[in-house]
Amino acid sequence: MIDQTNRFALRNRYLFKGRLVMRTAFHIGGGKGTLSSSQSSSFKGALRSIVEKLVPTLPEKAGLFSCGLVELSDEEQLKERLDTEQICSTTRPKYYTNKRRNNPSKDKEINQEAIDKLCHTCLLFGSPYTASRININDLYIFQEDEWKGIVELRDGVAIDRDSEKAIDGRKYDFEVVPASAAFDLEITLENVTIQDLQLISLGLSEYVSGLGVIGGKRSRGLGVCRLDPLNVYALELTGIAEGNRNKLLRNYLLNTNLSEKFPEKSTGQEFLNKHIDTIF
Ligand SMILES: [Zn+2]
Repeated sequence: MIDQTNRFALRNRYLFKGRLVMRTAFHIGGGKGTLSSSQSSSFKGALRSIVEKLVPTLPEKAGLFSCGLVELSDEEQLKERLDTEQICSTTRPKYYTNKRRNNPSKDKEINQEAIDKLCHTCLLFGSPYTASRININDLYIFQEDEWKGIVELRDGVAIDRDSEKAIDGRKYDFEVVPASAAFDLEITLENVTIQDLQLISLGLSEYVSGLGVIGGKRSRGLGVCRLDPLNVYALELTGIAEGNRNKLLRNYLLNTNLSEKFPEKSTGQEFLNKHIDTIF
């Protein structure tokens, strides 16, 4: 058996490999045509906000919980909620800081308590108490040679918030990559639970449908994208006999071709159907 308490032991690995195709121009904010890790964190942030928006509307029986990263400050309100609801530890940083300060010898236990109370979104995307289980590659433009230097400059006019009138002489330019630019996307998940797979499916469904967003200036309609194609590769090492596990692991370690390396392969749509169906 794999020691389930050893958080370093590899229990499963999922690889999502796809192409992110821009349907509208994409704001790159000061970049020079090559997209760096800041864009992958923008993608991760956008994915997380989709999940945070959807989870509170899901049927209760799904048992999914997302804190939305809203810090709780009102202690009375908090006391009321503590009796009835789960409170994600990310929303109570002061409580855990104080508890640690008052019990310096119990640092480990207090951190574990904080981890046990995390919401599903924080467990997947990361929190002050745990690392993220999701890893997104730097986003590079597909066939970069063709795109090198193709950056449009757009006019923006600075608007006075109060009068909603243009401010004289306050014009600025910003750089966009034109629509139809594409990026290779790779998402890796490790040691995930069923809930993590449900959440990632919720988030990616918007991208698969062509309603995903990335980058800045989204209120101007920039950064709308579609994830197409998307393939999902999976390696599960738990819940199987040791002999089979050894075979799978050996196969995984010795093969370089993804289809041979991972025992399970599905299209993005198949994967989403399977996991979103388990929520309803
Ligand atoms: Zn949370």
